[in-house]
Amino acid sequence: MIHRLAAHHRELFAGRPVEVSSPQGRFGAGAARLTGHTLADTEAVGKHLLHHFDTGLTLHIHLGLYGRFTDGAPPVPAPTGQVRMRMTSDRHWLDLRGPAACEALDAGEVEVLRSRLGADPLRDDADPARAFERLSGSTRPVFALLMDQSIVAGCGLIYANEVLFRAGLAPTLAGRLVTRTGWDEMWADLRALMKEGVAQGRIDTVHTAHTPEAMRRAPRVDRHGGEVYVYRRAGQACYVCGTAIERGPLAGRNLYWCPTCQPIRPVRRPAGSRAGSSPRARGAAARTR
Ligand SMILES: [Zn+2]
Repeated sequence: MIHRLAAHHRELFAGRPVEVSSPQGRFGAGAARLTGHTLADTEAVGKHLLHHFDTGLTLHIHLGLYGRFTDGAPPVPAPTGQVRMRMTSDRHWLDLRGPAACEALDAGEVEVLRSRLGADPLRDDADPARAFERLSGSTRPVFALLMDQSIVAGCGLIYANEVLFRAGLAPTLAGRLVTRTGWDEMWADLRALMKEGVAQGRIDTVHTAHTPEAMRRAPRVDRHGGEVYVYRRAGQACYVCGTAIERGPLAGRNLYWCPTCQPIRPVRRPAGSRAGSSPRARGAAARTR
């Protein structure tokens, strides 16, 4: 997760002069503008990592699907593979391979980048009202809107699927049908889940009633590690209602949902949701009884 990387890199390098190079060569010109200067601070905006230098220049990195960092204490190893960017101080080294973007930006270019990114749930300065404006004016599916980086920055595939399950909303529901209350609750839920993910270093989205311990089931075995309701659980039984989880492509990404817990028209929230459901959800639940 990018916010974890930003914090890690701040700890390793901030406040110190660093050498920046490009063993592979593709970032040679950018590295030459940054090297020898002090890394002042780091931050994450959505999936974008920014290393701000005291000269006013910023190193901008987007990992994309294949970008990876490695780091360690000296001695600095000989570069192996395609090391796009290497940063070293007297205490640490950091290598970057395979990023989608690695470039030196001036302050104006950083502002342009910020202006095209939506609200980042992990940032306290995020503006969910602006995101709601975009959402509520759109006929696009709410899943696609959550995945749109210009609306919600950094939500990611797992959280987009999971937060919609937890809200009891069909992922294909048009954005304009999401109420302000529904959005505020989903935003708060997304923030809480993502902050917990950063703190724990893994993605867990199940309520306490649906943990392996509570349900006396085997823990999930998956690359991302955490306990989830729908993500990559196609064909398996929903933890809330037992219906088989469905999967389908939407907006070029894999979508997972429970057809019972997430009907096209919201009926009720999954059991175990926190108290204080929206008036709409309560009203809808009452109608079905
Ligand atoms: Zn279900």
